[in-house]
Amino acid sequence: MLRLKHILSTLLMVIVLLAAACSKSVEGESKKWAANQTTVTTLAAQYPGFKDAIEARKQRAQKLFDEAANLDGEQKIEKLSSANTTLMQGFVGDLNRIDSKLKKLRESRVEAASQAGDKSSRLGAKVAAQDAQKTVERVEKLLKTGAKDEASADAILKKANSDIKTAQAAVDKVMAVDKKKQDQKAADKKAATDTKAKEKADADAKTAPWTCEYCKGSNPHTENKCTSCGAPRPKAAK
Ligand SMILES: [Zn+2]
Repeated sequence: MLRLKHILSTLLMVIVLLAAACSKSVEGESKKWAANQTTVTTLAAQYPGFKDAIEARKQRAQKLFDEAANLDGEQKIEKLSSANTTLMQGFVGDLNRIDSKLKKLRESRVEAASQAGDKSSRLGAKVAAQDAQKTVERVEKLLKTGAKDEASADAILKKANSDIKTAQAAVDKVMAVDKKKQDQKAADKKAATDTKAKEKADADAKTAPWTCEYCKGSNPHTENKCTSCGAPRPKAAK
């Protein structure tokens, strides 16, 4: 009897947990939907050239979201999730991320120019920085112009992303080469300092007093016999 009670209570707990997991996922996807709606509205305001393409996308996603209302459980979750994915995929997600990519490119450009150590690094940084600047301007123009539909918006954002990636890689490379050069310079300097220190230590060792291994008396380096007991200077100390 006790055993049955235990099994029943465990079963009940599993059902409650499962239900909680389901409702949580529907809730999660719904929250995500609300947040995505805000993001998309912001993007439409920020990039008016893409307004029509964004509107078309919103309608497509909204249709999926509405269909979810007639579903339950896993099917509902899946439909809501697909509404979210549809809304944010392709150019919409790209638009959402492109601002920070452009910001990073602008910052790297300045960083590369200011960090470049020697003449050839500065020249490389200058070329990469000019290229990055051109890319930023080109992408900003593309973003301003916008696109009439989803397909051209996807294509434009894909091209813009690829251009940013190329320019970013060029600037990163200049910075990496420059860093390598500066690291090498620092390593060379350290090696030179170490060599000098070793030479000094060797010279000091030659003029250092030696200790007699019999009476432990200290003797100047010029003596070959102990001044206290007359024992010969040990060979290793010569
Ligand atoms: Zn001695």
